[in-house]
Amino acid sequence: MLKEKRALVTGSTSGIGLAIARTLAGAGAEVILNGFGDADEIAALCDELGATYIGANLMDPAAIATMMADIGPIDILVNNAGMQHVAPVEDFPPEKWDAIIALNLSASFHTTRLAVPGMKAKGWGRIINTASAHSLVASPFKSAYVAAKHGMAGFTKTIALELATHGITANCISPGYVWTPLVENQIPDTMAARGMTRDQVMNDVLLAKQPTKSFVLPEDVAAMALFLCGDAARNITGANYSIDGGWTAE
Ligand code: NAD
Repeated sequence: MLKEKRALVTGSTSGIGLAIARTLAGAGAEVILNGFGDADEIAALCDELGATYIGANLMDPAAIATMMADIGPIDILVNNAGMQHVAPVEDFPPEKWDAIIALNLSASFHTTRLAVPGMKAKGWGRIINTASAHSLVASPFKSAYVAAKHGMAGFTKTIALELATHGITANCISPGYVWTPLVENQIPDTMAARGMTRDQVMNDVLLAKQPTKSFVLPEDVAAMALFLCGDAARNITGANYSIDGGWTAE
């Protein structure tokens, strides 16, 4: 299905991005991995997927520009890299705010602005942004993340309109809680911010949001990304697909 398509998946050494990379590679795309991690594990992933790897730090616009120049034109851009920090707004470290906005929002602008000319030249492109249920609704103590993800949703709609006549679609996928390192790592801060035990955070904060009472799987998100890459999705643009076990239906 994706033979002869080149796909950059940011933040694809772990979690949701890795599942998307595996799925796109399985459909025949040439995948470029990005993210941090153990060098041997990343080399093994490249072997497994027939992928290449570029370890650019996406908080740095200059590093993004170098990465995009190095990889050349791409057909599919998945803006997925992200991080979280949980704290009351008055205690939220300004450097964490800046880092989250840089990675979860501004990086997508930079990759997109540099990928679009190549997509326009081919008259075909797919931009898929891993947003979040937090692109649609808020939760306390996640001010930077919610701001960035709402921004990503607005950015996606804007570029969808700009690119609509060029054969390029732009959409968000908005997962609820997916069991990945990003979620696991926020449990201690959430315990502190809310004065809760680990079990209370799991059941009363995380799974409480999801009527299904279960975590979304990375593969669920990857399946939607693959669908959005296909011809059947040619007229889907500017959309924001929830995969959240019913969270945002409430
Ligand atoms: P994860 O921690 O498993 O993966 C994050 C990836 O981003 C890793 O590959 C990491 O190396 C990479 N990364 C981190 N900082 C980077 C940087 N400065 N430059 C380049 N790469 C960097 O997390 P995940 O849960 O798979 O999250 C992926 C995306 O999904 C994020 O945008 C996140 O906000 C979003 N999301 C996650 C959930 C969830 O519950 N896990 C829910 C909704 C949305």
